[in-house]
Amino acid sequence: MATHSLFLLPGDGIGVEVMGEVEKLVAWLNKEGKGDFSIDRGLVGGSAYDKHGAAISEDDMRKALAADAVIFGAVGGPKWDKVPYEVRPEAGLLRLRKDLQLFANLRPAICYPALAEASSLKRELVEGLDILIVRELTGGVYFGEPKEITDLGNGQKRAVDTQVYETYEIDRIVRVAFDLARTRGKKVHSADKKNVMKSGVLWDEVAQSVARDYSDVAFHHILADNAAMQLVRNPKQFDVMVTDNLFGDILSDAAAMLTGSLGMLPSASLGAPDANGRRKALYEPVHGSAPDIAGKGVANPIAMLASFAMALRYSFGLIELANKLEASIAAVLDDGLRTGDIAQGGKSVGTEEMGAAVLKKLAA
Ligand code: NAD
Repeated sequence: MATHSLFLLPGDGIGVEVMGEVEKLVAWLNKEGKGDFSIDRGLVGGSAYDKHGAAISEDDMRKALAADAVIFGAVGGPKWDKVPYEVRPEAGLLRLRKDLQLFANLRPAICYPALAEASSLKRELVEGLDILIVRELTGGVYFGEPKEITDLGNGQKRAVDTQVYETYEIDRIVRVAFDLARTRGKKVHSADKKNVMKSGVLWDEVAQSVARDYSDVAFHHILADNAAMQLVRNPKQFDVMVTDNLFGDILSDAAAMLTGSLGMLPSASLGAPDANGRRKALYEPVHGSAPDIAGKGVANPIAMLASFAMALRYSFGLIELANKLEASIAAVLDDGLRTGDIAQGGKSVGTEEMGAAVLKKLAA
């Protein structure tokens, strides 16, 4: 039996194309004895709907639950825009997040030196940038009850969303942030709105208390609005930032865009550790299925490959290999190789050529 089991869910559109480059990478790692991975494949999103009439089949859900890591491509596309709401492509991803109890969403924002010019900020502000945003993913205002629109009968309506967090939900996500900070720059910023929100008061109370267990990591409280401002003013002051579902949604998008294209952004979602310290985990690029370029072989595979690097680091503890893979991506960019999305009108290569170039650097 292989040491590490991977369950691949390529999904739809360019998800399938970029996953192809991960498969080649895994085959190479196995062949060279640099890893020992088993691969199983399933369907999710529109492709699962076409075959099973569901956004993910029960059989594939079982496989996802049993795997050491789920590697996810992207789902959706115009073909499935009119399918029933419960079986729409995104429902597959939401089901995975829910059943695997993936409460911690990790979104790194790394600035590759070769792409510093492509950022909307000045080169000196972003060059060498390496931030990790840790977003709470299963609680907060997106899920809190009541969540409703009531007709007041006088021509007015009243809409309510409920921001709700319990101690354990804050405690476990803040601990993830501190554990990760220990492996990086040893600094955590916790962002909330404790000045105007009760949930923020509790968030900070719990974060301060967790911080006392990590005396080797510097802890800073920051108001979420100030965090947004500081991200565009002086982003390099941050190492790990932990925040709730809503603020994390917004702050992680802002941070990611400091470093350029959607085709470059990886992510990881982690669950709670089991008795053996192993976490359920799903790794996916931030981008969608890109119907406008699907099937053309021009998608940038870097977000997908960098998501796999996160799997090597966070699910398998293969830190050196993860670092090497990330360095290989940086080296290929240094050489001037670009897919269309990052070529800024210049010469560009396709998905397979980019994937092969990264693999060649890794092998060198
Ligand atoms: P998108 O991320 O698919 O594409 C946005 C733009 O970025 C497009 O112009 C696309 O060509 C480009 N792009 C994205 N990834 C790229 C890559 N790797 N290389 C080169 N260019 C890339 O977002 P969208 O167009 O808003 O959505 C398209 C479909 O994807 C929709 O059905 C949407 O629901 C779905 N979607 C899925 C996910 C997911 O699976 N997690 C996330 C977002 C959107």
